Amino acid sequence: MDDFPTAVSFLRGASDRAADYVAGLRERPVAPSDAGHLPLPRPLPESPTSGYSALDDVFAELEPHTVASAGPRYFGFVIGGSHPAALAAEIVAAGWDQNVALAVMSPALATVESTAAAWLCDLLRLPAHVSCGFVTGGTMANWTALAAARHQVLADAGWDLARDGLFGAPQIRLVVGRERHATIDLAARYLGIGSSQVSEVSADAQGRMEPAALAAILRADQQPTIVCAQAGNVNSGAFDPIDEVCRLAGTHGAWVHVDAAVGAWLGAVPDRRHLVTGWEAADSWAFDAHKGLNTAYDSGVVMCAHPDAHSAACSVTAPYLQTTGGLREGSHWTPESSRRARALGIYAVLQTLGRAGVAEMVGRCCDLARQFADELSREPEVAVLNDVVANQVLVRFADSDDVTEAVTREVQAGGVCWMGATVWRGSVAMRISVSNWSTTERDVDLSVAEILRCLAHVRS
Ligand SMILES: *Cc1c(COP(=O)(O)O)cnc(C)c1O
Repeated sequence: MDDFPTAVSFLRGASDRAADYVAGLRERPVAPSDAGHLPLPRPLPESPTSGYSALDDVFAELEPHTVASAGPRYFGFVIGGSHPAALAAEIVAAGWDQNVALAVMSPALATVESTAAAWLCDLLRLPAHVSCGFVTGGTMANWTALAAARHQVLADAGWDLARDGLFGAPQIRLVVGRERHATIDLAARYLGIGSSQVSEVSADAQGRMEPAALAAILRADQQPTIVCAQAGNVNSGAFDPIDEVCRLAGTHGAWVHVDAAVGAWLGAVPDRRHLVTGWEAADSWAFDAHKGLNTAYDSGVVMCAHPDAHSAACSVTAPYLQTTGGLREGSHWTPESSRRARALGIYAVLQTLGRAGVAEMVGRCCDLARQFADELSREPEVAVLNDVVANQVLVRFADSDDVTEAVTREVQAGGVCWMGATVWRGSVAMRISVSNWSTTERDVDLSVAEILRCLAHVRS
């Protein structure tokens, strides 16, 4: 295993396996069938094996236990597939194996990152001066943005966080919607902001922050304040009234962060971008490329309208960390130092689809969510619980928690499609998230038929 021909044979073997897997995604049962026979764990080998085939044997044994979440009929969580351009980028990035921490380590990737950042700003109509970090996902995008926010609101209150730390600092108030994503609380916990410093704004029936309640909280006192708005609720797909949130927060000097892990990409769709009206006035944004943009895992993006606060939260210097001056230094904008070429997948999808192609892909997922809602709501005993404004549908059966749970479990076991369950406003609901570039109207028809088959079975 000491020469490059060996590496090439491994790479070709592995890409053949990956390609064969992708070729079968449409037919493959979505959920693994024989969960009882996992080939691992096994003892650590004492000695090396030569050649790819021994490794391939293990991959072959593992493959039946994968979930076909990259395929067209996986509607669980919010799981994007891998667009062909994103898959290509993964393979090339594997061969290149670039560390994108510093431009001197990869001028190619420094320019890919700066181009992808500029294209994202253009596509999503954000101000051109925003800074951008390529992170693992929405969680770290939220963390990074809130770290920048923490730095800035404390600086505005006369506190030097970098020098004096958090102990003894003015209290920060984090204002969140009741239906925020759980990772906002996680980011707060990482950042030393306790739950008693979090103020919840009540939400309407769709899960949107209520502006009057936000105004009342903002008026109540004048601590350094960060407001987290949400573009795309993980259950209902609903968008907070971002325009109004930014206006209210602006009059109180608060920082506005927009968690757009789900909804960002609707900002690229001409007849849906009204949902993010006014978001260019926010201070930071979190996006998930591995959701609606259909890059491979893992890929999130943080954007910040205050580059100095962003780099104050993330950048490191040391004599050996050579910078170039001209090119982008990727690690100044992320919590990580060494990183893989994550932006290459984003670049590749944007390069391949262009503005119109992204709008078409994201818009189609929303249209297919609408198709689910229309077809299901025609049936007796099926209720759609949300306004389907994006790619998310919430469905309840026979107005019963038990029936809804039973139908969801039966659909999951069937292998035709996969949906998860949630609790929405006190009731169990099936969640349908349409987030895959390869899903078609026929996939929706097949899935609706399967849901109705399971419902009939549960009811009989
Ligand atoms: C998915 C999601 C996150 C977390 O993103 P990860 O990519 O899982 O880290 C944060 N916020 C919202 C609204 C999400 O839907």
